[in-house]
Amino acid sequence: MLLKMPQKLLKTAHFIELDSYQHWPVLITQRIRLYTYEQIPLFLKENPFITDGYRAHLPSKLCLRSIFMLSNETVNIWSHLLGFLLFFYLAVNDLTSVLPASGVNREDYVIYAIGLFCFQVCMLCSVGYHLFSCHRSEKTCRRWLSLDYAGISVGILGCYVPGIFYAFYCNTLYLLTVLSLILAVFCAQVHPRYLSNDWKRIRMAIFCCVAGIMFLPRILVMYLIAGTAFLFYVTKIPERYFPGQLNYLGASHQVWHVLVVLMFYWWHQGCSHHAVQHSRSCPPDEQQLSRTDQIMS
Ligand SMILES: [Zn+2]
Repeated sequence: MLLKMPQKLLKTAHFIELDSYQHWPVLITQRIRLYTYEQIPLFLKENPFITDGYRAHLPSKLCLRSIFMLSNETVNIWSHLLGFLLFFYLAVNDLTSVLPASGVNREDYVIYAIGLFCFQVCMLCSVGYHLFSCHRSEKTCRRWLSLDYAGISVGILGCYVPGIFYAFYCNTLYLLTVLSLILAVFCAQVHPRYLSNDWKRIRMAIFCCVAGIMFLPRILVMYLIAGTAFLFYVTKIPERYFPGQLNYLGASHQVWHVLVVLMFYWWHQGCSHHAVQHSRSCPPDEQQLSRTDQIMS
């Protein structure tokens, strides 16, 4: 196979250099090679400061198998896969032991389940994107990318469900509003035209709305983590200052991933506290109030 390649291609081809990779205690899956930034297709060129370690041109099966090899996406994939397992565990644990023990009412179960479900969706969409971003079809890559964006919005809105329910209102109407918002944003973002140029304005508008919602909750720590996460995401710090040195570990996107998990986890911990207090602090709902009014008059 090597002999059949044209001489020009052979010169530029960058095969896994065994002398630099062989002493890494990882499995380099057969038939999967890594590429430099110059060698990857245009649609994968997103961060010039990550200079090496790219997977590309793979069929679905090999994309999946590449989960066990070291590439510049390994940390991104595993950070959110572990994040998914964390929120899955928390969901099972909360719904089967924490909530029954604190004697909360049925609404709390729903709120909890929705919040944690949104976090899990976010994590899985992200894992999917980072696994299949090396797919040989550009269309498949873009589909996964929009699913990743949609997942982030769902995760953020997932924070908003318990936030709005416990912090502001004790009213199922608001819950339904947020739920429809989640659904609408998700549908808009997985739409094939979402990433096209003629939808640029709509795309910006949706992101501004979702980001704007982020500023409503009152708790500052949430802002701090989210702000820091976005800062890393946008500025491509620190690899910007160390191009080529943080290809596998320490890149901005990995920091973003860890902060997203941390943000959801922090939010979940905050909500656990609210859930227990909710049944005691929630005022009687409007229907009850008006009924009381009628009786009083
Ligand atoms: Zn990501």
